[in-house]
Amino acid sequence: MGHTTSALRMTGVSRTYGAGEAAVRALDEVSLDLAAGSFTAIMGPSGSGKSTLLHCAAGLEQPDAGQVTVNGQPMPRGSETRLTRFRRERIGFVFQQYNLLPTLTALQNATLPLTLAGKRADRARAESLLTEVGLGGRMHHLPDQLSGGQRQRVAVARALITAPSVVFADEPTGALDTRSARDVLALLRSTVDRHGRTVVMVTHDPLAASYADTVVFLADGRLDPSGELRRPTPDAVAARLAHLGDRAVRVGA
Ligand code: ADP
Ligand code: MG
Repeated sequence: MGHTTSALRMTGVSRTYGAGEAAVRALDEVSLDLAAGSFTAIMGPSGSGKSTLLHCAAGLEQPDAGQVTVNGQPMPRGSETRLTRFRRERIGFVFQQYNLLPTLTALQNATLPLTLAGKRADRARAESLLTEVGLGGRMHHLPDQLSGGQRQRVAVARALITAPSVVFADEPTGALDTRSARDVLALLRSTVDRHGRTVVMVTHDPLAASYADTVVFLADGRLDPSGELRRPTPDAVAARLAHLGDRAVRVGA
């Protein structure tokens, strides 16, 4: 790894849901090391553990085993309060369904993470972020006065407001039309290229994955042993996914 700064490191992270006969090992000793300033896509069949990986990495869920560090800082275990503070200071999250508060304007939604953390709502920063995501003229609109693509861009501005070490996005373009999806992907790409942010995105779309620097593949809660795909093209991603499906079917048979 040399002196590359690690923005996200997961070591032997496992997570099981349920118990006994009904137990599902959603993540099985996953280890990942993502450099600061990288854009990584996570792909895999439905139920392969992509969301669980993202939630464990982002501190939205606690793993049963293993360690997560963000910028070299270990994610606190046990205490929800410490975990929440850790998450608020270091992590941004973008959801498929935007998760904006319907009674707050774009500007208020974008500053919410600061408000929740008991910090001053940095209006100038929020305005500049909203302008950067192309919503300079929509700051005082409510979510239902915005298109899906515009709502997701508010969600990206909200995720960036605390200058987090890592921004996680779970199927951020899953609810969007092709054009809006492209805008959101270009926006995520530019936060990496222009601001050195670190982005980790789950997607099932090879075209979306091709915006990333690297794609990692999950099957049955494990990273695909064939390794990651660098400089992904949509065709190369689709080919790897097809093989992943083959193996998953064989394992399940
Ligand atoms: P993906 O995002 O790749 O579709 P998930 O991480 O959502 O996969 O789920 C991985 C596995 O864990 C699946 O078998 C799923 O049914 C199971 N799972 C996920 N969340 C829960 C939960 N809260 N309770 C029980 N099982 C769950
Ligand atoms: Mg999922």
